[in-house]
Amino acid sequence: MTCSSGNCCSGATACRAVWPTTLPMARRAMRQLARFFESRKLLGTFAAHAFNGKAQIGSSVQQCTFYLTASALAFDPVGAGCPALSGTACSIYERRPLTCRSVPLHYSRAAAFAADDLDAFVATPGFACATHKDAPLVLQHGVVADPGIAESRAAALAQAQQDAPWKAALVKAMKHGDPRVPSLAQVEKAAARGALTVPMLGGWEIAAEAGLLEAGAIAALKRSQVIALDRLSAARGITLVAAQAIAEQRRALA
Ligand code: SF4
Repeated sequence: MTCSSGNCCSGATACRAVWPTTLPMARRAMRQLARFFESRKLLGTFAAHAFNGKAQIGSSVQQCTFYLTASALAFDPVGAGCPALSGTACSIYERRPLTCRSVPLHYSRAAAFAADDLDAFVATPGFACATHKDAPLVLQHGVVADPGIAESRAAALAQAQQDAPWKAALVKAMKHGDPRVPSLAQVEKAAARGALTVPMLGGWEIAAEAGLLEAGAIAALKRSQVIALDRLSAARGITLVAAQAIAEQRRALA
């Protein structure tokens, strides 16, 4: 194809941009692009819904794409820690969830950010990471080097993709004002706090209505949830706030 008029891209800013001319500059640009696309790819995998809006970035307001993500998380009463924790060790270590297996390079973060994430993790008080020269290699030249972590990241991402129909059913319910799930406006309002948590029961029912879960499975899930909540409420040192939250969830399942 040849350009005959020379006018077709005369107003395009991108066509006037100065492209990096030195090799280090080109490499830097490629790294930034890779980070950008990898982060978008990952957000796309996790997202239940993507929508456009405006956000304050520094001193200016910019047009952005926002991603709503939906995750199934175990109830974590304040101060109680993970119910599988026994003293300072994991009592279910051999069958711990994928989210734990991918620590410290959690699967919800693109590999492009792994070096920064690892530094931040190591610097966080309380994690006691082994950093001596014989410690297991986790990351090498920006690539996840630990096979267990790499496998669990890939398995978790595949699982996130499998969950896409359930996420779509949840967003549809949100858009139709279903009282079992928060509205998009409520999610947006809570976004500054990082997350909005709701009981799983509504999510299970919506999955069943969308043909993704057998109706009979809900009864079994409710039973196992009640057992887990009763175990939690009987745990030593449970705070009053946590006890109230457990009781509320227990009532919702009755
Ligand atoms: S590894 Fe995971 S399951 Fe085990 S105690 Fe820690 S948070 Fe809980």
